[in-house]
Amino acid sequence: MRVVRLGRDEPGFAAEAARLRTASFPVALTGAGISVESGIPDFRSPGGLWTVFRPEEYATLSAFRADPAKAWRLYRALGAALLGRRPNPAHAALARLEDAGLLGQVVTQNIDGLHQTAGSRRVIEMHGDHRRLQCLACGRLEPFDEALLAAEGVPRCPACDAALKPNVVLFEEAVRGLGEIDAALARCDLLLVVGTSAQVHPAASLPPVVRKRGGTILEFNLERTGIAADCLFLGPAGETLPRFAAAVLGGDGRR
Ligand code: NAD
Repeated sequence: MRVVRLGRDEPGFAAEAARLRTASFPVALTGAGISVESGIPDFRSPGGLWTVFRPEEYATLSAFRADPAKAWRLYRALGAALLGRRPNPAHAALARLEDAGLLGQVVTQNIDGLHQTAGSRRVIEMHGDHRRLQCLACGRLEPFDEALLAAEGVPRCPACDAALKPNVVLFEEAVRGLGEIDAALARCDLLLVVGTSAQVHPAASLPPVVRKRGGTILEFNLERTGIAADCLFLGPAGETLPRFAAAVLGGDGRR
């Protein structure tokens, strides 16, 4: 695996950029790491949400069903962590590649909506989104009102009065968009893997699927992961991805 570092391996950016320009259907898989520079910490790090709220106690479907008021303590903390966050240059770089016709699909594990705010249009949110509330009883979706963060109690469905949850995929719930993801992967000959440890399935299975079919994997991460990439751009994605996009598109890779 080739390793490309900012400021040290400039020819590496140009060489890998050429691979993207000639790919027929590039796809990006993103994870929590792409939003860290927007101020949203990943959940596992010290002080992350999972160190305060044990996922098996707060973030499962059965926890919500058993005690929605308790689960809403986590949902409010999550909402507060996402409030007012803006896309960073890594999100903008992916949107710019899509605008240029050089990125066919973004598949994200994130629930923060920052790809869409940055201008990406073709986004599959595997783990749902935090912009809306979901009624498990009647399927209704409602906007997530910021006022809920300071309120108490559990919001109720205006149609059937059942307890609402954020429209995010809880543990024990099915991941979203698998059919669309399969369709994108069937065409994908180059996968950008950005800010994900890809330890959690089904995201973890995406790079091997592309690789097995002879596709190229370009990874952007702060550290080495277990992903079998052709090239790892080592460093903050907010710096490496715009630099890569600039090599692909010309200019500075920013909007
Ligand atoms: P993860 O926590 O398992 O891995 C994050 C990866 O990002 C790590 O490999 C880390 O080295 C890398 N990283 C951190 N900062 C980076 C940076 N500036 N530039 C490049 N790479 C960086 O995250 P995951 O694989 O996405 O899985 C965690 C789960 O938690 C996901 O399923 C996701 O739904 C959820 N989550 C979502 C958000 C969000 O929506 N922003 C935030 C935290 C967690």
